[in-house]
Amino acid sequence: MTRYWAERAWLGAGGGAAAGVAIDVEGGRFGPVTPDVATPPPGSVRLPGLTLPGLANAHSHAFHRALRGRTHAGKGTFWTWRDRMYGLAGRLDPDGLHAVARATFAEMALAGVTCVGEFHYLHHAPGGVPYAEPNETGHRLIAAAEEAGIRITLLDTLYLTSTVDGRPPEGAQLRFADRDLDAWSARVDRLRPPPHARIGAAAHSVRAVPADALPAIADRTEGPVHVHVSEQRAENVDCLTKYGLTPVQLLEEYGLTGPRVTAVHATHVTDDDRAALGDRGTRVCLCPTTERDLADGIGPARALADSGSPLCLGSDSHAVIDLFEEARAVELDERLRDEHRGHFDAGELLHAATAGGHAALGWPDAGRIAPGDRADLVTVRLDSVRTAGFDPTYAEAAVVFAATAADVTHVVVDGRVVVRDGRHCRLDDVPRALADAITAVWQ
Ligand SMILES: [Zn+2]
Repeated sequence: MTRYWAERAWLGAGGGAAAGVAIDVEGGRFGPVTPDVATPPPGSVRLPGLTLPGLANAHSHAFHRALRGRTHAGKGTFWTWRDRMYGLAGRLDPDGLHAVARATFAEMALAGVTCVGEFHYLHHAPGGVPYAEPNETGHRLIAAAEEAGIRITLLDTLYLTSTVDGRPPEGAQLRFADRDLDAWSARVDRLRPPPHARIGAAAHSVRAVPADALPAIADRTEGPVHVHVSEQRAENVDCLTKYGLTPVQLLEEYGLTGPRVTAVHATHVTDDDRAALGDRGTRVCLCPTTERDLADGIGPARALADSGSPLCLGSDSHAVIDLFEEARAVELDERLRDEHRGHFDAGELLHAATAGGHAALGWPDAGRIAPGDRADLVTVRLDSVRTAGFDPTYAEAAVVFAATAADVTHVVVDGRVVVRDGRHCRLDDVPRALADAITAVWQ
């Protein structure tokens, strides 16, 4: 048994940060959690700063990390960025993907991410030829997460068409596509997750999955189901032209809504779409740092939450890996839109970054510092140049609105220390691992 003493700990939405919290950990789970313990108990590990539950990065494409710093110059749109991404997707082999993913997941661990939702579509060799092991790349991603010390939900993605009107995949898309729905589900059935992993499914988008294939995604799988929805207006236009329905209406019509389902982005949704998502308890994953980088637009975050959709957060293309930045962007984007402050409080944003994300990834027993739950802890320093001088009454707001990933000092995942004093315990030079992996991809 390990006993921690957190100088301050955030114990869930609705409450502020508690002072002097003794936290017992045994067998990867939390035991008793006791606030108002004035001094560290003998033998306890002291955690100065504010300790949070584990952060969940609910939407990731790990290989996109190799695009950071390379796609931000010049003009363009989501679609011109996508051409660059396809160029990268065409270059990766399993070893290269593995190295980029391991380093990227280690960067996430350093940022306090204890679980990633990997929306995985880079399945096959160039030209669409399956590898000898059809799940080669999925296995590499699962291994990379273990090596980086975090949990993973592999959201294996169905990708069948290049456009809403059914054009076949071409170029790099051939690597994403299975022969047909049956080939996809047979391949996914063969995935056997180790303890740090779960298997979920994804529909890439209404562009890439014809309507008649949508019901099978939920019917043939058990875990969470994610889908890119209305990130771009062009997708809405094409969907309306083909089906006479918005993407959300199409998902609803074909049974792909509800608490198992997470709509990723939901940027350009109508009021009726919001009601349809919320009425069924469909989750929404916002990725504000990617949405702003790609000039996608600002999703109606407050309205989606008010309609009944639980929110979670993802760093998606990894232009930035910092869940605090994602969290505050949700609030700050609303301020830019309507010229008022105070749409979300810090507790709601932290909930989206922790329990909300873990629930969307099929880990309902994570994301809270509560007895019996998975023992994930993320400690954020309150004495850096960014956080020093905080008001103890609002410690969680200081973290959400001022801290960065660089302020994370200590990370525990399932009871095991993964980051200590700001250093990864398994990969001793994560920047070097990132540089080596990314340089090798572009050579
Ligand atoms: Zn995405």
